[in-house]
Amino acid sequence: MGKRRAKRKAPTRTKVVLDREFNCPFCNHEKSIDIKLDRPNKVATLTCRTCGVGWQTKITSLDENTDVYHKWIDSIEEINRDVAPEGVAGGAGRYAPARNARAVADDGRSDEEADD
Ligand SMILES: [Zn+2]
Repeated sequence: MGKRRAKRKAPTRTKVVLDREFNCPFCNHEKSIDIKLDRPNKVATLTCRTCGVGWQTKITSLDENTDVYHKWIDSIEEINRDVAPEGVAGGAGRYAPARNARAVADDGRSDEEADD
């Protein structure tokens, strides 16, 4: 009997999973984006099940859910650029529209702060 072959460490294969669900950049909810590809009409509809944001785009026969999602993200970034040109300093690469964050601004200043 020949010597045993060194057992090859099986590389942990990442299973190819078709992305069907994506994170919503508006409400930051994970996997809440629902994408429907209407192939016959070449239209894709994208909806967030959490915040209800919706978007529609034309697709080609080659487009997959991922493509639709990325197109959406692109369009969001474009909108953001239009709306808030001063906000894009540095290009942090974040998809989330920062505009939603302003609700967090702390407007309830406590008196204690003023005291020294
Ligand atoms: Zn959402």
